[in-house]
Amino acid sequence: MTHPNSLPTNGPTSLDPSVGGVQSSIAPSQYSSASPDIGGMLANLQFAAQAVSGEAGADTGQNEQTVVENRLAAVRLGVATSLYYALRAKHAATAAHGLRVALFCSSWSEAMGLESDHRDRIEVAALLHDVGKIGVPDRILRKPGKLTVDEQLAMDTCPAQSCQILRGCTGDLDLLDIVRYGGVWFDSRRDDEAPRGDALPLGARMLSIADAFDAMTTEQVYRPAMSRDGAIAELVRGSGTQFDPTLVNDFSRLLESKPEILQGTMVHRWLQQLRPEDSRDYWTGATSFSPDRPRKARGETVRRETLFNTQLHKSLKDGVAYTDSEGSIEIWNAAMERMTGLTSDAMIGKQWSATALRMRDADRELDDQLICPLQECLDTGESVRRSMVIETPGSDPLSVHVEVAPVVGLKPGSIGTVIVIHDLSDRKNLEQRLSSLHRQTRLDPLTRVSNRAHFDETLEQMVEQTAKGGPTFSLLICDIDHFKRINDTYGHPAGDDALKVFANILKAHSRDGDLVARYGGEEFLLLAASCDNATGAKRAEVIRQALEQTAVESLDGECMTASFGVTEFQSGDSGETVLARADRALLKAKDNGRNRVIQLGLGKMSEVAAEPQRGGWFDWLTGNDESTSTVVDILMPVPIDLAIEKLRGFVSDHHAEIVNVAENQLSLKVTSRPTPGGRRRVDHKITFHVVLTLSAAQQDEMLSQNADQASFTKVHLEIKPIRNRDRRRRDLNDAAKELVASFRCYLMGELLPNRTS
Ligand code: GH3
Ligand code: MG
Ligand code: MG
Repeated sequence: MTHPNSLPTNGPTSLDPSVGGVQSSIAPSQYSSASPDIGGMLANLQFAAQAVSGEAGADTGQNEQTVVENRLAAVRLGVATSLYYALRAKHAATAAHGLRVALFCSSWSEAMGLESDHRDRIEVAALLHDVGKIGVPDRILRKPGKLTVDEQLAMDTCPAQSCQILRGCTGDLDLLDIVRYGGVWFDSRRDDEAPRGDALPLGARMLSIADAFDAMTTEQVYRPAMSRDGAIAELVRGSGTQFDPTLVNDFSRLLESKPEILQGTMVHRWLQQLRPEDSRDYWTGATSFSPDRPRKARGETVRRETLFNTQLHKSLKDGVAYTDSEGSIEIWNAAMERMTGLTSDAMIGKQWSATALRMRDADRELDDQLICPLQECLDTGESVRRSMVIETPGSDPLSVHVEVAPVVGLKPGSIGTVIVIHDLSDRKNLEQRLSSLHRQTRLDPLTRVSNRAHFDETLEQMVEQTAKGGPTFSLLICDIDHFKRINDTYGHPAGDDALKVFANILKAHSRDGDLVARYGGEEFLLLAASCDNATGAKRAEVIRQALEQTAVESLDGECMTASFGVTEFQSGDSGETVLARADRALLKAKDNGRNRVIQLGLGKMSEVAAEPQRGGWFDWLTGNDESTSTVVDILMPVPIDLAIEKLRGFVSDHHAEIVNVAENQLSLKVTSRPTPGGRRRVDHKITFHVVLTLSAAQQDEMLSQNADQASFTKVHLEIKPIRNRDRRRRDLNDAAKELVASFRCYLMGELLPNRTS
């Protein structure tokens, strides 16, 4: 769009044609025959447009010029008048430019014999086509020099911004299209997406020409005004590329041949209904009508008579109502009827009452005491904005944003209100859709249980909470037996169905706080909150039996079975190690013949080594650096070969590094897990050197005299931090404790009283 910055160079009476807009070439007195006021009004309008825009426009008060502008805007824009005012407050020159362009378009449409609503639409679009400039920074809008590329880009967003703003107050798509395409070139080389040529709305093609013409003939901060002939020559130059050639021809002929007719028609059309004695009526509405005034006189009032006003009210998506100063309703538009279920016939003349309309504040109940927003507005004289709900019987509650604003008349002080109700259900729906999308991203699409990503996240959270001293948890991992065969026999869709059945059984057996997830393929997980190993195994067994007894329709009524691995969180575990242990248990269940539950690990064991043993592995904490090794004996209830198997599990789950293997001795390097909640986590990782010596248990080491000595293994453990100098002792203590506990769990052993000291 063009950049119609203008600096005032004219006083109110100086109307030099080479400087001002097109109407400046016409003496005000030319209109005196149409109405005695009109010439003066136009002169004032000219002055208003220029005076308010720059240094000369210090007086922004309610002067007569503003009044004229107000009235023109009000007639054409109805409830959207405030947009015009806002634009004028932002940049008066732009608002004045809009007004002049609207006046050109108005007369031009008239000369073309366009239908009246088509004309109305073009006028309003022209009047507000630059309203998007409200969003352009002043430094760009008022820049005296050439715009940089970035600044031009900011200006180029104006048509889209204008459309967005106008979309808030009208659903008239034709009107919005005029604004949207008003800056698009006729041959559309600037924008591949936009329609081109005759496919562009007529109004947009006209606006484009009138807009450019006014910008060229008005003095801009960055260049002087062009003469009318010069501007027409420019239009002709751009004709066929930027502008519609037929319309350029039409426009220039009209301008050249009968400029005064053009002006006269325009003025007549715009101002015919604005007689001085009616001006108060426009602002005061019904309150100023005396009941004994004839109905015809009432019909003459601007607001009710203007076709555009009615159309605007009808097409607005927002509910709009006007009341007088007593709260009596004068206007009730179609959207208001839709939102409240009450017709305008029923409402006009009635007293507004939020309670009667079954409106409540969004955060309160219907029966709660309500401060009516209208009353609040009337009492304070200030705008009131509220989030409310309309409880229409027989339909869902409607979330709305309510704004009640005083309507300010010619004299200071409010003499009525406008109530605008904006339907928030679109936004609410969007919020619901977003939250449902969020849920979707966490679900497995086939079985509707959690997906792996959500499981991983939850497992990490549970590990962290339990490690901090929260309740322990167990993990059940299950895999359907011979599922490939099920697919092969009954087909993939039946297999899918079987997966859903299994997922549903798992869900049915889950408790509050549990999480059921699909790990992949036919493997599922149940993260059982506040559940120890024994309970986890029992629950897995219940599920196993339930599955075994469930006839699956898609498998011709056959049942399926699954294998289960169960483990409980234990000190030092990460999510990874818990999962690895459960998986090993599952493998074992498969190896042992399927359709069974195997559990691994002992549990949290927080009591392990809580008491220092005299001369035992705890001593290094208080000793010097040379004696910081921990020595402990563990008695395992299995023969040596099985003990080695169990050690393999520890090594793999802890990513331990095997340093050396010699006869019955194994040296490992193990890095402890960071202590949860540690301030600098990296500081809390401690690497230990562990030497394990395995031997058959001696009779005197047996905890029970009756036990078979040959089936027990003693593991002698020496644990030493690899670099301990700058470690805090408590960290070393905690880490070593956890390591011992972990060994004990994996080796399923009991601590032996230490005899070495
Ligand atoms: P096992 O008892 O050892 O677990 O035997 P299995 O046949 O169940 O084991 P395996 O893991 O080798 O095969 C799993 C099969 O599950 C392979 C794959 O075709 C099938 N599968 C994986 N995902 C889906 C799925 O979404 N739908 C269906 N119908 N089948 C799937
Ligand atoms: Mg399987
Ligand atoms: Mg599998």
